[in-house]
Amino acid sequence: MDVTIFGSGYVGLVTGVCLAEVGNNVLCVDVDPGKIELLNSGGVPIYEPGLEEMIHRNREAGRLSFTTDAEAGVKHGLFQFIAVGTPPDEDGSADLRYVLAVARSIAEHMDSYRILVDKSTVPVGTADKVANQVRESLSERGADLEFDVVSNPEFLKEGAAIEDFMRPDRIVVGTDNPRTAELLRALYAPFNRSHDRLMLMDVRSAELTKYAANAMLATKISFMNELSNIAEAVGADIEKVRVGIGSDPRIGYQFIYPGCGYGGSCFPKDVRALEQTARSLGYEPQLLHAVEAVNFRQKAVLFDKIQTWFDGDLSGRAFALWGLSFKPNTDDMREASSRVLMEQLWDAGASVQAFDPVATEEARRIYGERPDLTLTTDAMSAAEGADALVILTEWSEFRSPNFDAIRSALKSPVIFDGRNIVDGELARAVGLSYVSIGRAPLI
Ligand code: NAD
Repeated sequence: MDVTIFGSGYVGLVTGVCLAEVGNNVLCVDVDPGKIELLNSGGVPIYEPGLEEMIHRNREAGRLSFTTDAEAGVKHGLFQFIAVGTPPDEDGSADLRYVLAVARSIAEHMDSYRILVDKSTVPVGTADKVANQVRESLSERGADLEFDVVSNPEFLKEGAAIEDFMRPDRIVVGTDNPRTAELLRALYAPFNRSHDRLMLMDVRSAELTKYAANAMLATKISFMNELSNIAEAVGADIEKVRVGIGSDPRIGYQFIYPGCGYGGSCFPKDVRALEQTARSLGYEPQLLHAVEAVNFRQKAVLFDKIQTWFDGDLSGRAFALWGLSFKPNTDDMREASSRVLMEQLWDAGASVQAFDPVATEEARRIYGERPDLTLTTDAMSAAEGADALVILTEWSEFRSPNFDAIRSALKSPVIFDGRNIVDGELARAVGLSYVSIGRAPLI
């Protein structure tokens, strides 16, 4: 089938390449000429495991191409996927400007029936707004053409995006048009083989399902982070509590790890947007508000621990940071806890020596060259001469470090583990102090 994808970011690129992988003919459109030029010259603007090889393979096979030409995109596909950003507006609600701009371009250039498939995370009611926009733009050019707008939210996880798209837990399709539903079922058939995972529902429920999923996951994290602070206060160990509660199948072990707060482009923005939607309808979403408030406070927990450790005097000190991305296997630093900590350390007059397996370029892009930020090419170089080591992202390669080497590299022997991933007893055995989340420090 011929498919067009508007937006070549994490979601658009992964959607495009996976649809091409199963034999569709995919054209990706983006307004960023630099991104399209890079993609057309064989480069990939983001880090996502497996993505580069897959793009290469499908370009070579002639099933995947990239353009800035919206008109060519609209002419190409029966399916017009919208996978552009929906960043937060000033009040936290989702900014629909990019989504509606795509709807306008589709209406300006379409010459026959099109299915607009919304993959961006958008508030309930957006499909109606998109349809209104298309109707308005069509009528401006005196055209009377048929189209459908479908909600098809994306549940992929950065870092495992290809696997998630190729073998999804669910494919949510929101439409009340049975013919369109069948066309989407056919498009998704290759990803829906072992058993039926396509969930057909009305558009509004599909739109809300995406927010509900992210809000639930964010709630689990904030719940555990709240408990970790209580555990510290009462002298308990949150990791023991985690194991204890996870054994109840109604709770489960997944996604109940305490840490230094969630980040990324989705949870913070989507919880705020859902909160805003509820408020705009006169409902005060107390739980959602608390989820975000707990997360905001949790992102400052490491700084508070560091400040206490050094008696409030951080000026002139250097801190080694391991991990900059908001989670492992991605270079995405949007709303990452590392950014909050770095900015707090800089404000306190300290400097940062940071290492991340893939996100150092992204850090350079965000912060530029500055004297209080050194980005290193390996983990041990970041630790060299630092006053403390702080672990911020649970990359696998940080889990079993050489504690002797860390002990020799650091000026003062202490590790702050924001993800509880290293063995504190092993650290202590070589004379390092170990401060983690939700349990007493090992000194
Ligand atoms: P992104 O910022 O990585 O990419 C968006 C892309 O859209 C950019 O390349 C931008 O240049 C392009 N764009 C903007 N306006 C355009 C236009 N008019 N025509 C064509 N391209 C245009 O965003 P993302 O992370 O891929 O997220 C996209 C959407 O998917 C968001 O709504 C997000 O909430 C949702 N989502 C993201 C994830 C994730 O893990 N990143 C997962 C599920 C859902």
